[in-house]
Amino acid sequence: EKWSSKDVRKTFLDFFCSRYDHKFVTSSSVIPSKGQGTYFTNSGMNQFKPLFLGTAPPFTEMASYRRVANSQKCVRVGGKHNDLEDVGRDLTHHTFFEMLGSWSFGDYFKKDACAMALELLREVYRLPVDRLYFTYFGGDPDLGLKPDLECRNIWRSLGIPENRILPFGSSDNFWDMGDAGPCGPCTEIHYDHIGNRDASKLVNAGSPDVIEIWNLVFMEYDRQSDRSLRPLPQQHVDTGMGLERMCAVLAGTKSNYSTDLFIPVFRVIQKETGAPIYQDLTGSADIGGINTAYRMVADHARMFTVCISDGLLPGKGDLGSKLRSVMHRCIQQYREVLKAPPGHLVKLVDPVVESLGESFPELSKNSQKIKDAVQLTEDRYMQTVEEGRKALDKMMKKKGDLTYLTAEAMIDLRQGKYGNLTMSEDVIQQIAGERNLQLNWEGYYSLLNAQVVSIDSQEQEETTKVTLSHAVLQELSRQRISYTDDSLKYMYTRN
Ligand code: ATP
Ligand code: MG
Ligand code: MG
Ligand code: MG
Repeated sequence: EKWSSKDVRKTFLDFFCSRYDHKFVTSSSVIPSKGQGTYFTNSGMNQFKPLFLGTAPPFTEMASYRRVANSQKCVRVGGKHNDLEDVGRDLTHHTFFEMLGSWSFGDYFKKDACAMALELLREVYRLPVDRLYFTYFGGDPDLGLKPDLECRNIWRSLGIPENRILPFGSSDNFWDMGDAGPCGPCTEIHYDHIGNRDASKLVNAGSPDVIEIWNLVFMEYDRQSDRSLRPLPQQHVDTGMGLERMCAVLAGTKSNYSTDLFIPVFRVIQKETGAPIYQDLTGSADIGGINTAYRMVADHARMFTVCISDGLLPGKGDLGSKLRSVMHRCIQQYREVLKAPPGHLVKLVDPVVESLGESFPELSKNSQKIKDAVQLTEDRYMQTVEEGRKALDKMMKKKGDLTYLTAEAMIDLRQGKYGNLTMSEDVIQQIAGERNLQLNWEGYYSLLNAQVVSIDSQEQEETTKVTLSHAVLQELSRQRISYTDDSLKYMYTRN
């Protein structure tokens, strides 16, 4: 039996909607609206936050939801769930992915949720149960929480042998959307790609052979800003399964990239660049980083297509600057590693729209808008890189040959002291990298933060070593979160 991604998605939704009376609700935007979080939508539950908290306005449609299922567009760049650094390097984490979800809002709880999940995997998708591992919350003394033995016993009563039911602590089995908000213990289902062995040590251990496919969260608490937990008015179920991972499992491959969600995009990349045909090679086996680049480019193309379609513009505001960074990285990999000719990023939009268009019809409606934004972003990026190279030449002429750039020199480049254009961090990274110049990102960000903090508090510090132009200061102030977000900083320091 061959499963297409469309079948996998439809089977999930049919199971919950037809067999168990869930209502289908369309995916919300990846750009959260008020009250749904400050980062990209990172899971299916974001749009239902008011239902968990008990704050959904009465008599609205949402207030009537008891059982819901959907396929949610998710982006994990920035915020509590940030997977950017893994993307391309492994075969299972994306910046954009689809989460197949099912919910009970104050309706059924743990027992039914586990039974439905097992039934879907075993009877409908026909996965061999002896490949599955089931984790439960092992308790957390710091939070004053006991192990979820109820959950363990449910899996036992459903016939799962004890050696495949495993306890884990808060970092794996206590789910929260962000630093505050609805949360609770969870139980997860992991799949062993190899089989005929005891793989329990490989669960949650970063092995590419044993992969988490489904998370069932038992929403019971509302985390306060002081980190303490307050019980929610009702208990809820919130589950999320990664569509791309499930497609890979059903296709018998360890790679999400060897599925119909990515193959058509790779085909276009190959045609545009003439690069060798894609293979699922990672790490040192991927000589020249060609396959990693394929993965990053295809992944990022899906991410920017969806974000722009949902109304985000590259560079605008905090999320927009994260989007622009992802696009810049995509352009770098596409042009420099895969040797794409200039102006060809836009060709990736069509295969992405085609592969996702059936479940997200807004993509084809917005396709021209997406293409325009992509074209403009690539043009601008190439133009600033060109300017940046000239600016660096100028600087070198003045300061002599350099092996590194000081934080102050980086800020000079940032605000266009040696040229007409201001430069984003991606561009500085790019042009410095071309000349093997060491960069001091830590110093750079601490200088910037000192400046941004001082204008935020409306008092100019006189002792700082650099002076930022008004325009740059304003832009930085708007984007403040980008510069205090550790993981994003990491992106720049890690090369
Ligand atoms: P992992 O431990 O593999 O990083 P997670 O525990 O962070 O996953 P959850 O927050 O529990 O993931 O999300 C629910 C499901 O969504 C996961 O079980 C997985 O199938 C899928 N998923 C999570 N993150 C990604 C991602 N970056 N790309 C693709 N699928 C993902
Ligand atoms: Mg994760
Ligand atoms: Mg996990
Ligand atoms: Mg998980």
